[in-house]
Amino acid sequence: MADYYEILEVERTATEGEIKKAYRKLAIKYHPDKNPGDKEAESKFKEIAQAYEILGNAEKRQMYDQYGEAAFQNGGMGGGGQGFGNPFDIFRDVFGGGNGGGSIFDSFFGGGFSRQDPNAPVDGNDLRYNLQIEFEEAVFGCDKKIRFTRKAQCDECHGTGCEAGTSKKKCPTCGGRGQVGVSQGFFTVMNECPKCHGQGVIAEKPCKKCHGQGQQKVERIVSVHIPPGVDTGTRMRVAGEGEPGLRGGSNGDLFVVTHVKDHSVFQRDALSIYCDLPIDFTTAALGGKVDVPTVTGKAELEIPAGAQSGDVFTLRGKGMPSLRGGGRGDQFVKVFVEVPKKLNSEQKEALQKFADLMKDSKGSRPVQESFFEKAKKFFSTF
Ligand SMILES: [Zn+2]
Ligand SMILES: [Zn+2]
Repeated sequence: MADYYEILEVERTATEGEIKKAYRKLAIKYHPDKNPGDKEAESKFKEIAQAYEILGNAEKRQMYDQYGEAAFQNGGMGGGGQGFGNPFDIFRDVFGGGNGGGSIFDSFFGGGFSRQDPNAPVDGNDLRYNLQIEFEEAVFGCDKKIRFTRKAQCDECHGTGCEAGTSKKKCPTCGGRGQVGVSQGFFTVMNECPKCHGQGVIAEKPCKKCHGQGQQKVERIVSVHIPPGVDTGTRMRVAGEGEPGLRGGSNGDLFVVTHVKDHSVFQRDALSIYCDLPIDFTTAALGGKVDVPTVTGKAELEIPAGAQSGDVFTLRGKGMPSLRGGGRGDQFVKVFVEVPKKLNSEQKEALQKFADLMKDSKGSRPVQESFFEKAKKFFSTF
């Protein structure tokens, strides 16, 4: 997903005011009312709203700066409610619309939201579900059942909001226009009718089950297949499992976003896997074969004689599988030499003998030798 700062076309150092200004400019440019039927503008508008939802809030912005998108990927949709939300809600906040008097947008374009045809179909919102998975599950893929609550068409009234046998009548508050005039100084600004929410009609007898909303909350359990190779931030689309559309609009989609937990041995960067491997100092000196853990089991690694702490060896094809299929990344093994902490007298004796033998062996420790050579130039005592 693109960077939120890039989406709003601001610097990372932008002030709160600059972010708000940039958002207003872009939101007006891409607003669906100004671009009727333009799907690209609509998705751009949603993207802008999403970016502003984070950057327009000091606390969320700080989290985003520190942790990136990952900051908003814990805990799923329930409770914390990190869904995408409704971009129009944020739009209203910034433009001071809603119920608190006319919005700037209203006076620019005369009407804004309430001008939308109350009988036009409206597509349902997309939903986002944040799914935590184990490192191994990302390697091999897995099948998950996710449980969440979302809106659905009321099964009592089939979405009409009316009790059986009754229908909708013209809203008495706005006379069916869907908007009411509020005078502000010299102007009369049109606002969405608070009684019918811009619909122009209300249920004669509201459905008892949904209180005239036409929608109810349902618990959904959806099976999702997580393919091998997913990473933190990978999005999987489950078509039609978002919020229901209104008046024949299509349902939104559900996006399952994975968050892969850290592993105690492996680190990952895209297709590469990294691990640190302790080796004996005798193995480092003499060379030899060692066992290395990989995500698919044990592998053998040939350590050359004279290996040093920090040397990195590559195990080809032992990395993460590619999401797009075909091939795997590599595993990189960084060795470090472990010096024994406890020695018995026999071992000490053997090592002492070894140390004595090393005294005159020139050229076996090139790093030390060149170091003391350089030091000599400064200190005559060496
Ligand atoms: Zn109902
Ligand atoms: Zn009304």
